[in-house]
Amino acid sequence: MNSQHDHVIAVDAAVPAEVSELDKRQRREKIYTRAIEGYFQRLRLYTGWPLLLGYFLLPWLNLDGRQAVLFDLPERKFHILSVTFWPQDLVLLAFILIIAAFTLFAVTALWGRLWCGYTCPQTVWTAIFMYIEQRFEGSRNQRIKLDQEPLSWQKLRKKTLKHSGWGFVAALTGVTFVSYFVPIRQLLPELLSLSADLTAMSFVLLFTVATYLNAGYLREKVCTDMCPYARFQSVMFDKNTLVVTYDTKRGEPRGSRKRFTTKDPHQGDCIDCELCVQVCPTGIDIRAGLQYECIGCALCIDACDSIMEKMGSPKGLVSYTSENALAGQKSTGIPLKTLGYIAALAVMLALFSTTLLTRSLVELSVSRDRGQLFLPAPNGLIDNVYELHLTNRSALTDRYRIEVEGMTEFSILGGDAIMIPSGELLEVGIRLRADPNSLPSSGTQILFRAVSNNDESVIAEAESRFIRPTL
Ligand code: SF4
Ligand code: SF4
Repeated sequence: MNSQHDHVIAVDAAVPAEVSELDKRQRREKIYTRAIEGYFQRLRLYTGWPLLLGYFLLPWLNLDGRQAVLFDLPERKFHILSVTFWPQDLVLLAFILIIAAFTLFAVTALWGRLWCGYTCPQTVWTAIFMYIEQRFEGSRNQRIKLDQEPLSWQKLRKKTLKHSGWGFVAALTGVTFVSYFVPIRQLLPELLSLSADLTAMSFVLLFTVATYLNAGYLREKVCTDMCPYARFQSVMFDKNTLVVTYDTKRGEPRGSRKRFTTKDPHQGDCIDCELCVQVCPTGIDIRAGLQYECIGCALCIDACDSIMEKMGSPKGLVSYTSENALAGQKSTGIPLKTLGYIAALAVMLALFSTTLLTRSLVELSVSRDRGQLFLPAPNGLIDNVYELHLTNRSALTDRYRIEVEGMTEFSILGGDAIMIPSGELLEVGIRLRADPNSLPSSGTQILFRAVSNNDESVIAEAESRFIRPTL
């Protein structure tokens, strides 16, 4: 194996596992990946672009006069499109996280590392950084040569362009991330004029540096050494899970041969070209079997398919397949464990939808004026003063009518029609005026009710007392 292939992880069956692991780590030098095109790379492009566009453009989308997706921490409100989550809705946010986790479990059990290979931000951003690297420093061989060359103006120019490109994408990523917490139309001008809040600037810097290092330098090490998901997802696999696999029966014994020549019947289809290793972003050899470092990106499938095509052999020597399919056995159906994930997911979705649809869109709390229990009013009447805290949790501005239950003869002063914009909380002072002789006790239990003008079924209630002097 030449020096360019030193990063290749040779797994020798005769070497004890612990030595092999040490060997892997010692050899884990810089990986120079070869660019490859093919069916799965087009698929990655088609899935990656919408996600990237969504990430970068979503903060620019406005709805009802505010940023459509905004995690407003100072106001303790999370806006996701037309739904606003309040601190009281923490259970709904917990549901969303659990739903995401079970979706990931079910998808992994059925289709392997689909998340890692196609949608994980680490994979997507590393692919962008690799593209920039190739644009400015050239192909795999050109990059290896460039790194071995002594410093020259030409090398400095290429490296500067590459790092500028990386820096630009990293900064864009950092600003966009923070704009999910601070409105982008406010954040961007403030950052450009250096008048942004210190916390916002620090987080932009932190996420810019993290993106730069993760996608530019750490790359596969994030997947192999830092990501906990990579470690435990194999427990979700079963014999029907789709994984990227090398067909050993068909490929071995490997050996080089010329194109379109009659193959030695004792020789396998693998021509040992190592293209599958050179394209692998984690630097592994898929022919050594399923390894936790494999992120399921299918680059090796495209690489091997292109070789098989050139050799006039059928594609699929490296393919997405299951252990059962490879052994020529029928699929044993969806196992109980996966059915469990799907069932848990369905239950969580049902709970989430019910909680979301049945949560009250208006919230009311009442506090009495602590200064005086009651106030004298004209004609022998008395007043009690209250402060209503009314929150409009609906997506639209609404007007609320205040009703009171528990007293027969009284009048409400103020609070006839309280208008509150969507997502806002309003504190309204209100007086109840009554004849003390009409009240059954010195502390009459009453019930305040706020009724929505947009939808009469949207109501909120809060209890309080009306106090009168002892007669
Ligand atoms: S072995 Fe293949 S699928 Fe796995 S990470 Fe490497 S290139 Fe991607
Ligand atoms: S690309 Fe295919 S033929 Fe070449 S070494 Fe890998 S498995 Fe063998």
